Amino acid sequence: MRLILLGPPGAGKGTQAKILTEKYAIPQLSTGDMLRAAVAAQTEVGKRAKAVMDAGQLVSDEIVNAIVSDRIDQPDCAGGFILDGYPRTVPQAQALTGMLKEKHAELDAVIELKVDEAALIKRMENRVAETIAAGGTVRSDDNPEAFRKRLVEYREKTAPLSDYYAGTGELKLVDGMAAMADVTAEIEKLLLPA
Ligand code: AMP
Repeated sequence: MRLILLGPPGAGKGTQAKILTEKYAIPQLSTGDMLRAAVAAQTEVGKRAKAVMDAGQLVSDEIVNAIVSDRIDQPDCAGGFILDGYPRTVPQAQALTGMLKEKHAELDAVIELKVDEAALIKRMENRVAETIAAGGTVRSDDNPEAFRKRLVEYREKTAPLSDYYAGTGELKLVDGMAAMADVTAEIEKLLLPA
């Protein structure tokens, strides 16, 4: 099962990806998590990405394409994977199409979580409050200013991917405003034939 989860920041991609990885026993490939790990480890990529991420902007296609290409070659991706937060631009989607073709692999579905943008800021604030209550560390880009910038980046650069994947016939839409378990059930229903 090779799956892409699309949707704006705070749509629930990460939450759904975590649930689906258990069900299908395939890894969640979150480019955001991979980049945050690179920042924490202070690698060259991490050093280049940190300021861009903190400002809510997108890291270069070149960096994320290289990270994903390496990652999907790892043995644990042989049975499939769930891409969460990648691709985020049309050139990334084109690069992924090329990568998969080269590896003779195909996508099973691209699932877009449709959400009401006004609700997203509230979700981000809740996520921050829950993280603090659990004694965790709040993401440096989970603040209103960076979050708004992430939404603008989404609208300008990522939203066009809906058309890209509608064009390939792989796009499926799910109501991301429904309760978490209902969103999962809806996704699973769409994946049944896969
Ligand atoms: P996320 O955890 O998916 O919300 O990503 C957090 C941040 O990491 C984003 O705001 C970007 O700065 C960066 N990032 C994650 N994935 C990508 C991607 N596919 N392309 C460019 N930047 C990305």
